Amino acid sequence: MSRRIDILGAGLSGLSAATILARGGYDVHVHEIRKDSGARFDGDFQGLENWSSDTDFFDEMREWGLDPNEFKSDAFSIIDLIHPDDEISNPVTDGIAFRVVERGTDEHCIDQGFKRMALAAGANIHYETRKDPSECDIIAAGPKESSAVAFGEIFHTDHPNHVAFQLNDKLAPGAYSYLIIIDGIGLICTCLWRQQKKSGRYLNETIAWYEEHYELNRQPIKRVGGKGDFSLPDHYIHEDRHYVGEAGGLQDFMWGFGMRYAITSGAMAANSIMDSNDYEKQVRSRLIPLIRASAINRFLMNRIGDRGFKMVARYWMRDQARKGDGLAFMKWVYQPGLFRRALWPIVKIGMLRRKQLADGRMVSRMPFRKALSRDVWEASPRAEEIGVQWKSQQRGGGHTSFSENDA
Ligand SMILES: Cc1cc2nc3c(=O)[nH]c(=O)nc-3n(C[C@H](O)[C@H](O)[C@H](O)COP(=O)(O)OP(=O)(O)OC[C@H]3O[C@@H](n4cnc5c(N)ncnc54)[C@H](O)[C@@H]3O)c2cc1C
Repeated sequence: MSRRIDILGAGLSGLSAATILARGGYDVHVHEIRKDSGARFDGDFQGLENWSSDTDFFDEMREWGLDPNEFKSDAFSIIDLIHPDDEISNPVTDGIAFRVVERGTDEHCIDQGFKRMALAAGANIHYETRKDPSECDIIAAGPKESSAVAFGEIFHTDHPNHVAFQLNDKLAPGAYSYLIIIDGIGLICTCLWRQQKKSGRYLNETIAWYEEHYELNRQPIKRVGGKGDFSLPDHYIHEDRHYVGEAGGLQDFMWGFGMRYAITSGAMAANSIMDSNDYEKQVRSRLIPLIRASAINRFLMNRIGDRGFKMVARYWMRDQARKGDGLAFMKWVYQPGLFRRALWPIVKIGMLRRKQLADGRMVSRMPFRKALSRDVWEASPRAEEIGVQWKSQQRGGGHTSFSENDA
C-alpha cells in the first residue's frame, strides 16, 4: 500500500507539494479550513516575480511537473516606477520581469489551477475540515501573525493593461503602493509595513493619488487585503513535519513576494520526501540566502523615508542606464555584497525578535513595527470623498474581504 501523506492547507505551497507527491504514487490528503482553494483571497492580482533566479520561474515549474498553463497569467517587461516626488520612470527588460496572476476561487485563478493539478494527480482535498497539525507531514497553512498588511480596492476601468509601483512613505508607510490593470479590472493597493490605527485612510489617499495621475474612470467593486508573516525559524522540519510557504516563514521581507517561495518550497518538500533527501538543507542552500538578503534590505528600508526611497529609485534608473536592463537592479537587490552581508548580525539583533510558537518552534520573527509621528497627516478632500464613496458602495453590497481587525 502507498504511504499516506497529510498536508495542512490547500494554498499554493500545499497544492504544489500535493501534486508532486500524488503523481509519485503517495496517498495524499490535503486538509483545508476554508471552503475552497483561493478563498483566503478575493480576486486580487499578485505579481509572480522572475528575478530571484536566472531560470524563468515557469520553466522551473515545468521541471517539477507543474503546468503554468493551468491558470491565467499576464507577463510584463515594463513598469511605471513612481518616485516619492511623483516623478515616473520606466524600468524595462528584454525578457519577462514578472507575471500578474489572480488569486481567488474563479476558474482562471492560480489557486484553482493548482487545485486542478493536485486533483488530476490523484490527491484528495478535504475542504472545510480541521485537522490537528501534529497529524500532518507538511504544514502549508499560510501566515499566522502579522508583520505587515496590504489593503486594496478592485474596480472596473477602461484603462489599458498596466502596472505601476510607487515608493512613497506617506501613502504606504515603510513600503510601496501599486496599480495593476488587467482586461478592464484594476487593483490599487497600499502596503503598510508600519502598524496604523485607521488603515483605510491610506488606501483612500493612495486611490486619490492614482486617480489624479492616471485616466482610470474607476468604478469600485470591492476591497481586499491580507497580512504577511515574516520570520526565520530555527528549523524547517520540526518533529518530522515539513513547514512550507508562509507557514515556514518563507516570505520576502522586502516586498512580500511570497508566491514563488511557496510553490518552490512545496516542490522541495515533496521531492525531499520522495527521494529521502534533506528538505532542511535545500531550503538553507536555495531559499534562505534570498530571504536573508531581503531581511537585510528591509532593515535598511526601515531606516529611510522618502529621501531614501528617492535615492533607491534614482539608483535603479542609473543602474538600468549602465547595464541596459531594468531587471538587473532587482537581481542585485537579492545578491548582497560584502557590506550588506556584514550587516546580518545587526539585522538579527535590531529587527528580529526571538519567539516560541504554539507548536514549539523557535523563530526569529519581524514584529509589525509601530507607527511613526510622520504617519499622522490630514486626509485630502478627494481622499475623504473616496472614503464616503466606498461607504455608500458598502451599503449597496460592496464587499470587504479583509478588515483592520484581521491583521
Ligand atoms: C494582499 C496581499 C498581496 C500579496 N501580493 C503578492 C504578490 O504580488 N506577489 C507575491 O509573490 N506574493 C504576494 N503576496 C504573498 C502571497 O500571497 C503568499 O506569500 C502566498 O500565498 C503564500 O502561500 P502559502 O501556500 O504559504 O499560503 P496560502 O496560499 O495562503 O495557503 C494557505 C492555505 O492554508 C489554509 N489554512 C490556514 N489555516 C489552516 C488550518 N488551520 N487548517 C487548514 N488549512 C488552513 C488557508 O485557508 C489557505 O488556503 C501577497 C499577500 C497578500 C496578503
